[in-house]
Amino acid sequence: MNDHTHNSPYKIAIIGAGPSGFYVVDSLLKLNIPLEIFMFEKLPTPYGLLRGGVAPDHFKMKNLESYFEKIAFKSQSFHFIGNCEIGKDIEISTIRSYVDATFITTGANFSRNLNIPGENLKNSHTAASFVAWYNGHPDFVNESFDLSGHSAVIIGQGNVALDIARILAKTPEELSNSEIPEPILNQLKKSKIKTIHIVGRRGPAQSKFTPNEFNEFSELKNAKVIVNPTDLTIEKNVIEYLTNSNNKKNLKNIELLKKCSLTSNEEIPPQTKTINIHFHLSPLEFNGPEDISSIEFSVNKMTGPANDRRAVLTSKKETIPTDIVFRSIGYLGSKIESIPFDDKKGIIPNVLGRVINNQGEIEKGMYVAGWIKRGPSGVIGSNKRCASESVTAFSEDINKLEGPKNIGLKAFINSTIKQKVSFNDWKKLDSHEKLEGSKKGKPREKFISVQNMLKFLEII
Ligand code: NAP
Repeated sequence: MNDHTHNSPYKIAIIGAGPSGFYVVDSLLKLNIPLEIFMFEKLPTPYGLLRGGVAPDHFKMKNLESYFEKIAFKSQSFHFIGNCEIGKDIEISTIRSYVDATFITTGANFSRNLNIPGENLKNSHTAASFVAWYNGHPDFVNESFDLSGHSAVIIGQGNVALDIARILAKTPEELSNSEIPEPILNQLKKSKIKTIHIVGRRGPAQSKFTPNEFNEFSELKNAKVIVNPTDLTIEKNVIEYLTNSNNKKNLKNIELLKKCSLTSNEEIPPQTKTINIHFHLSPLEFNGPEDISSIEFSVNKMTGPANDRRAVLTSKKETIPTDIVFRSIGYLGSKIESIPFDDKKGIIPNVLGRVINNQGEIEKGMYVAGWIKRGPSGVIGSNKRCASESVTAFSEDINKLEGPKNIGLKAFINSTIKQKVSFNDWKKLDSHEKLEGSKKGKPREKFISVQNMLKFLEII
């Protein structure tokens, strides 16, 4: 395996063109070895959750696209194969037969389930589907969300829950300059949602959201955050623990919540939207009969040591009436045929990025990075370190790899994937989206249908 030259580079496949996939490319290029990289993506567009998951009004984060673009253009031998679905357009076993190593970076796109009665009533939605819808993901743009009622409940208190609340709380003018595609924006503009509840099962000291994201509520033109001061009584040992462990995030969260609670009793102008933060409530049942009408919660008590406080159900109940609910309780990865998978954790089993097969052994030449490796945690940038760890594993194994059985992956792709989208094709879509967006004062006006992307590129 040491005889690799520029004429005979290591062949690497990357499955999934999200941030982790690009961070893997970045780390691979830093190894300074001859490489040919093939990145496969189901959609014609790259960037995964950065395009389809990061909030459409988080402009700074969206700018990471230009960083990933530079990575793509750094190497002459980087091939983006968009509009190519694994298991449909090409089998993973076929790809593996042509490469030295495969990195799976497919992320975690599915919402976890609550597994409670009424979860599937009409108007009960996963956060993943709503977020993908307002981001114009082609697989979700035709979903329907009935925003004609006055009240929405969001279950879970992570940053995704805050994103959803912010999008629902913004005025049409505030939404207009975001990346939300026009047809979706028009539906959001008609929303009648006025009362938004964000419900957590634990307390403010354990809240998952981050202060910067919570602070964005204070910038909203027509929304007020309501916090019940009695929810903010925190045990002395928990505060001591947060202080001693220098948990700045949760201490700051508590401070911000306290600030909101000071004005929560003030009279609210009739047209103002409210974002009501509730703690210590676990959903027990969504009530119908057909459309959701209310949610019954258990009022929880907290137990366990200060560093691991858990919510325990009590017999005390509370009901919140609502017209729509978003279940925002974390994401799960999805299984790829013939690749080992841990259904419970929603990840591919691995040690430091090396995939572990069903026999408990290291699967030679197969690596994993990002949310499908470690679960859905951290910000986009957290995937950089994660990808670097997996690429280090690859570089340590490099002399033990078996090498490809077949040669000529590029030719094989050219002859079999007829409607593939290259990186240069994507750049044409990107330029068009930016041009159309600039006419409306938006960063981009997205293509929201794969058919339209392929027609624009004259691929169909
Ligand atoms: P998350 O941060 O893990 O939050 C999940 C929430 O759901 C928590 O409040 C959790 O409560 C709750 N939950 C889980 N299971 C539950 C159940 N059975 N019943 C009731 N509540 C339950 O997940 P996320 O919001 O989906 O975010 C995923 C990752 O993306 C996070 O790392 C997040 O920071 C990141 N993200 C970042 C940004 C940003 O930086 N702007 C934006 C969006 C997402 P417990 O704490 O009690 O488990």
